[in-house]
Amino acid sequence: MLIKGIADSHCHYDDSAFDCDRDNLLDEMLTSEDSAVSLLVHACTDEASALFGIKTAKKYDNFYTSIGFHPECCDRLPENYMEVLERLLEKSRKIVAVGEVGLDYHYDGYDKELQIRLLCDQIQFANKHELPLIFHCRDATADFLEILHRYKPMGVVHCFSGAPEVAKEIVDLGLYMGFTGILTFKNAKKVKKSFCTIPTDRILLETDCPYMAPEPFRGKRCTSDMIEYTAHVGAELIGITPQELVDKARENTMRLFNIKAK
Ligand SMILES: [Zn+2]
Repeated sequence: MLIKGIADSHCHYDDSAFDCDRDNLLDEMLTSEDSAVSLLVHACTDEASALFGIKTAKKYDNFYTSIGFHPECCDRLPENYMEVLERLLEKSRKIVAVGEVGLDYHYDGYDKELQIRLLCDQIQFANKHELPLIFHCRDATADFLEILHRYKPMGVVHCFSGAPEVAKEIVDLGLYMGFTGILTFKNAKKVKKSFCTIPTDRILLETDCPYMAPEPFRGKRCTSDMIEYTAHVGAELIGITPQELVDKARENTMRLFNIKAK
């Protein structure tokens, strides 16, 4: 069965993995009549990435962008990063979120205190401008949840792969959860279990491309149309059709990011 109307709520088409065919790929996905993809949201990682998102959003109707500094930026963060964000926000009306922001304790190299300050500053920026956030959290659940409880932001926890108890806490805070190709991995028992416990009106589908390609493409370069494979696995888990899940996830993406139907 042919899937239509895929919304990829988290993609990185500025990644060098797309240097060889970026324009063709985006043209094909966003302008061709029979494309399975109908909406892309760029997950920004730094200032150059924000400028890519803003430029691309100008070119394609159904491409939206976030602005923000990823925790991996901590070692090259501009000192005036809050001013940079304010300036970027003036540049486009298609900036729909602040992200991707968060905590990443997986690698030792990044200063935890700076990560926490950067995250809290960006949450306050988003709250002030009434924008949702795109959150990244890796090996930092306790600190991350404490910050969510403190600031009560709107947003999505992207690439969710945690346990059902954590999923429940995030849902109770009013947040959404983004699921990548990890959902299709055979050993991803925990994330499958979590997926079944959260309300369907909080589910977003995403690629995190070029990473996290679903089975049977695991390890290869990922593109947004591959969400079809994630949707097949997700839909089976909760007893709906893949098209129903894709439609639901697109509606959720548009509600969270305040994107109006054309
Ligand atoms: Zn990402």
